[in-house]
Amino acid sequence: MTTMMSISDMYVRFETPFGLLEAVRGVNLEIPAGASVGIVGESGSGKTVMSRAAMGLLSGSNVRREGKVVFNGRELTAMSKEEVRNQFGTGMAMIFQDPMTALNPVRRVGTQISESLRVRLGMDKKQAMQRSAELLSLVRIPDPEAMLRKFPYQLSGGMRQRVMIAIAISCNPELLFADEPTTALDVTVQAQILQLLSDLRRDLKMSMVLVTHDLGVVANHTDFVAVMYAGEIVEQASTTELFANMKMPYTRALLESIPNIEMKSGARLKVIEGRLPNPVDRPKGCGFVTRCTYAQQKCHDEHPPLVDAGNGHLYRCWYPLGHTIARKQ
Ligand code: SF4
Repeated sequence: MTTMMSISDMYVRFETPFGLLEAVRGVNLEIPAGASVGIVGESGSGKTVMSRAAMGLLSGSNVRREGKVVFNGRELTAMSKEEVRNQFGTGMAMIFQDPMTALNPVRRVGTQISESLRVRLGMDKKQAMQRSAELLSLVRIPDPEAMLRKFPYQLSGGMRQRVMIAIAISCNPELLFADEPTTALDVTVQAQILQLLSDLRRDLKMSMVLVTHDLGVVANHTDFVAVMYAGEIVEQASTTELFANMKMPYTRALLESIPNIEMKSGARLKVIEGRLPNPVDRPKGCGFVTRCTYAQQKCHDEHPPLVDAGNGHLYRCWYPLGHTIARKQ
C-alpha cells in the first residue's frame, strides 16, 4: 500500500502568557493512499491542531511546529507558504465543522463553487458553472441549477455541508480532511453526510482523514483509527483490529460514552469523569492517570511508551485491557 501522507515526530506548541502550551507531542502517522483514517479524541485532545498542522494551516507568531510531513512524495514542511497553498484544491482539501462560517454569506452558491474551478483549473465562467451543477448533483443535491442561484442563508445545515463538500472535491483532491463534518447537524442528516463522504472517497479514489470525537463514526466509515489524548496518539490500529482487540482504557471509555441501540429507554450515558491534563503543566506519568479506573502507582510515576502489539496495533498503556490487575470500583 503506498503512502499518501506521512507525519513524523510532529510537535506543535503555542507560546501563551501562562507558558508553552504543548498541543501535539511526538505524533507519527501514515495515511495510506485510497484509505480512510479516523482521528478520534475528546475536545482538546490535539486532533484538530495536529490535522491543521499537517496541512500547513497553522499560522501565527506564537506557533512552534516541529517534525516532518511528506505529502505524495514531497516534503510539505520544507515548502514555502505559497507552495503549500498551491497544494490546496488539487492536492489536499478540507471540510470544516461549520459550513455557515466557511461559506461567504453574501455570495451565491454557484459563484462560490465555480471560483476555485476558474482559479485552479483555468475554466471559463460557463464551463465552471456547468461543472458546479455537476458537482452539486454528485453531492446529491436535487435541482442543482436552482441551487447555484441560492445564498447560504437559504439552505439547511445539511445542504450547506453538501455545498462545502462540492467545493472541497471540485478540483479532484487526492486527500480530503474532514474535521467534525457533521457536528452541527441532526442525527439523520449526519448519517447521510457521512455515507456521502464514504461513497465519494471510494468513487473518486481519494484518501480521507476523518477527525471526530465519535468512535461510532469511525467504526462505520474508516479503515484505520488513531486515538489521541492530551496531544499524543495513545492507540492506533486498523478499525477492525481496534474494535476486536481494544487495549486502551481511554478508547474503551470513549466507546462507552456513545449511545447504542441496545440501551434501555431512560438509561444514562457514561461520561469520562475528570478533565484532560493541563497542557502547560502535564503529569510526568500517563496523561489519563487521574481519570483511569485501571491506574496503578507506575502510571503516576512513568510515562508509558507506544508499544506494538502486532498487526500494526500500537498502544500507550502500562496495564492494557485484559491485563490481570483489577479495575478499581
Ligand atoms: S497507563 Fe495506567 S493510567 Fe494510563 S491508561 Fe494505562 S492503566 Fe490507565
